[in-house]
Amino acid sequence: MNNHENSIKHGLFNMGDLNVALQQYFTGNSYHQSLVKDPQVNVTVSNVSFEPGARTNWHIHHDGYQILLVTGGEGWYQEAGQPAQRLHPGDVVVTHDGVKHWHGATKNSRFSHIAITAGTHEWLEPVSDADYQSLD
Ligand code: MN
Repeated sequence: MNNHENSIKHGLFNMGDLNVALQQYFTGNSYHQSLVKDPQVNVTVSNVSFEPGARTNWHIHHDGYQILLVTGGEGWYQEAGQPAQRLHPGDVVVTHDGVKHWHGATKNSRFSHIAITAGTHEWLEPVSDADYQSLD
């Protein structure tokens, strides 16, 4: 099975470093590279990559929104109370203010997206292994 390791490690945007700052809010390993460092821009634009099985905790974007531009591998996006959506390169996801959700890799593939984020994060509980493992 192709876990997309090579294409994500050598993707269009630099994969960046192990995301130590947010590790407490993620399950598994993720990598982060800030792509815009301009004080006149009030959104963050980041390349975020996940190892197979890695995902964010459930979280909410407040006073803003998030746009995910999927750039590599295979992943999941789920809003609370909705079925998980499988994501592929080229997919675009918009998360509105106040919506509880998570995103991350599939069990067997790395996953990468550009995240454009305005506002603040509220970090919630991890996505349980039982819920995650039930996804196919
Ligand atoms: Mn999010």
